[in-house]
Parts: sequence; C-alpha cells; structure tokens
Amino acid sequence: MAKTALITGVTGQDGSYLAELLLEKGYRVHGLIRRSSSFNTERIDHIYQGPQDPERSLVLHHADLSDGVAMVNLLRELRPDEVYNLGAQSHVRVSFDAPLYTGDVTGLGSARLLEAIRASGIDTRIYQASSSEMFGSTPPPQNEHTPFHPRSPYGCAKLYGYWATVNYREAYGMHASNGILFNHESPRRGETFVTRKITRAVARIRAGLQDRLYMGNLDAVRDWGYAPEYVEAMWRMLQQDEPDDYVVATGDAATVRQFLEVAFAAAGLDWSAYVRYDPKYERPSEVDALIGDASKARDRLGWEPRVRWAQLAELMVRADIELLDAELSGARVRVDR
Ligand code: NDP
Ligand code: GDP
Repeated sequence: MAKTALITGVTGQDGSYLAELLLEKGYRVHGLIRRSSSFNTERIDHIYQGPQDPERSLVLHHADLSDGVAMVNLLRELRPDEVYNLGAQSHVRVSFDAPLYTGDVTGLGSARLLEAIRASGIDTRIYQASSSEMFGSTPPPQNEHTPFHPRSPYGCAKLYGYWATVNYREAYGMHASNGILFNHESPRRGETFVTRKITRAVARIRAGLQDRLYMGNLDAVRDWGYAPEYVEAMWRMLQQDEPDDYVVATGDAATVRQFLEVAFAAAGLDWSAYVRYDPKYERPSEVDALIGDASKARDRLGWEPRVRWAQLAELMVRADIELLDAELSGARVRVDR
C-alpha cells in the first residue's frame, strides 16, 4: 500500500518541493490550501492533476491553520501516515506588522494541528517546520543545544510551535519531530525574501526594466542552503524509529552584502552601482548572525548539504533571467483550473 502524507503549506516553496519528493517516492499526497481570491497554486501547477483523473496522487483540500475543526475532519477522513506542517505566516518583517495574526497561524496553528491529530485518534507521524529564527540573538554556531532568544513575533510564534511539538511527543508519545531549518532558498523562494528579491532585481536590471534596488541591513549574516535538499531532511526525520529534533544547515554563511556581490556579478554587474538604502526594510529588532551546526542531522539522518550560498546565488540568478525572458516573450502562461 502506498503511504499517504498531508502537507500544510503545500503551495509554498518547501511544500512544492516536498510534494515532488513524496510523489517520486510513490506517496499519495494531500495538500492543504487556503482559499484565495486569485490562484495561489503556481508552484504546484506542474504536478497537479485534475479532480477527474482517477489515477491522481496529489489531492488538494481547502482548509486553514486557523480552523481546528476543519483539520480534525480532514485528518479523520484522510488518516495520513505522515503530516508535514509547513504552513505559516513565514515572513519576519511582516510579523512585526501583523504580530497577532502571525502568532495565531504560525504558533497556535501548530498546536491546533497537533491537537487535531490527538482528537482524531489517528496514528501518524508529524514534522514541525521550526526555524533558526528561534535562536535570534544567541551567537553562532547554533545547534540543538543552543538557547533560544527570538527577535521577532515570527520567532516567538515558531518557538511556541517548537515547544508544542516537544510537549505532544512527551505527553502523548506522539511521533512528532522538529526540523530547525536555517534559511533555505531556491528559484521558488517568495519574492520578498532577501535572496529572491536580489536575484529577481538582477534579472530586471540586466533587462533594463529597473535601475535601483532598495535594501535594508546589508551586514546580516545568514547560512543559506538549497531548499530541495532541505525537504529531503524533513522526510528522513519521519523515517526514524524515534522522533527527535534536528538542525538543518550548511555551516557556511555570508553577509547580505556578499550575496549581493555574487548575484550581481553572475550577470556581469557591479552591485554598488544599483543598490540604495531604505530604512523601511530594517526590522525593529534584527537577527545579526545565523550559522548552523548540522552534525546531528549528518550523523543520524545521513543528510549532507551540497549546494553552498555562492552557487545558490548563481543558480537563482540564472533561473530569474530565464523566467523573465519567458515572461517577456509571452511563453509563460498560467495554468487555468
Ligand atoms: P512560504 O512562505 O513559501 O509558504 C508558506 C505556506 O503556508 C504557503 O503555502 C501559504 O499559503 C501557507 N499558509 C499561510 N498561511 C496559512 C494559513 N493560515 N493556513 C494554512 N496555510 C497557510 O514558506 P516556505 O516554504 O519557505 O517555508 C515552509 C515552512 O518552513 C514555513 O513554516 C516557514 O516558516 C518555515 N521555515 C522556512 C525557512 C526558509 O528559509 N524557507 C527557514 C525555517 C523555517 P499561500 O500560498 O496561500 O500563501
Ligand atoms: P529572515 O532571515 O527569515 O528574516 O529572511 P529574509 O530573507 O527576509 O532576511 C534575511 C536578512 O536580510 C535579514 O537580516 C534582513 O534584515 C536582511 N535584509 C536586508 N535588506 C532586506 C530587504 O530588503 N528585504 C528582506 N526581506 N531582508 C533584507
């Protein structure tokens, strides 16, 4: 019998890569999507099969992490072997503007899902998308024993989700694991996260569509990895006999300034000619440096990162140039449903 998985946040960067990975492994994949007034399935359109297809192995369900009853009903109906909780208000800067909403979806949403699993009485394994943002101001290198000190409403909400996961494991013996993932990027990264904002701007500047890029703090240090490799680590966590918590990172880091330099150079451009400062992109409290130590994931899960940040910057620039060329030539069309 094929295994069944439920992914919250299936329309996001990680959800789309994880859905691809699980489909390749022969899973039947259910994705939770929220209702939107415009299409929000662009990242999974290429693997979507229509509801009339009897062979389909990716099925989408409307629900929301703010609706605990809908989640109980869905879990009772689907009885998945594995649940991946990737859904969240995931933007740190936005979390300062919408702190309570972020707390509700990103923090309480995790508890709602855990409680929905318990209430539905099903036997399943759950992955919680925890974040290096929970380390906040604690200096690097950070590993599973590093004290947490979050610096944003997002970080605080993720910390609640982290501890709720640990608590359900301890209280109810649930197979519940936290992946403490450091920043991971790809051509599917949301356009307002710093890496994608930069690589998208590089493509537009190269094409003559833009002549300035406004940025915030260029001194922040991040350990940027490649998202398709990180979803493999999520899956490996749920294949372990025992649930546990793991840091997933490359151990290699750079400043935003260094990322700018490499990304612009990949298109033959000098970043300093185009980048300007706008305080609007600063955060009320910043996370200065995140550099992960993923020794435990390497030893216990056999997981190793391959793509490092400079290579990542180059591949994202190439992808954004191709995407823009396709858009400009009219070759890129939206799939209708
Ligand atoms: P994205 O922002 O790309 O995706 C977030 C997903 O959550 C989207 O599918 C979004 O739906 C969905 N979502 C938002 N609000 C709700 C809600 N109320 N109910 C249900 N679903 C909702 O994030 P990533 O793919 O980059 O990250 C995946 C997870 O990992 C997130 O929880 C994130 O916080 C966490 N994380 C990410 C890191 C990274 O570097 N990428 C690092 C560490 C942790 P829609 O498409 O409709 O907006
Ligand atoms: P985060 O690590 O989850 O906050 O991921 P982001 O990609 O949003 O930000 C990474 C770092 O880049 C943070 O330290 C930001 O302060 C910094 N940064 C500098 N300028 C910008 C900007 O214009 N947009 C974003 N999103 N981040 C910026």
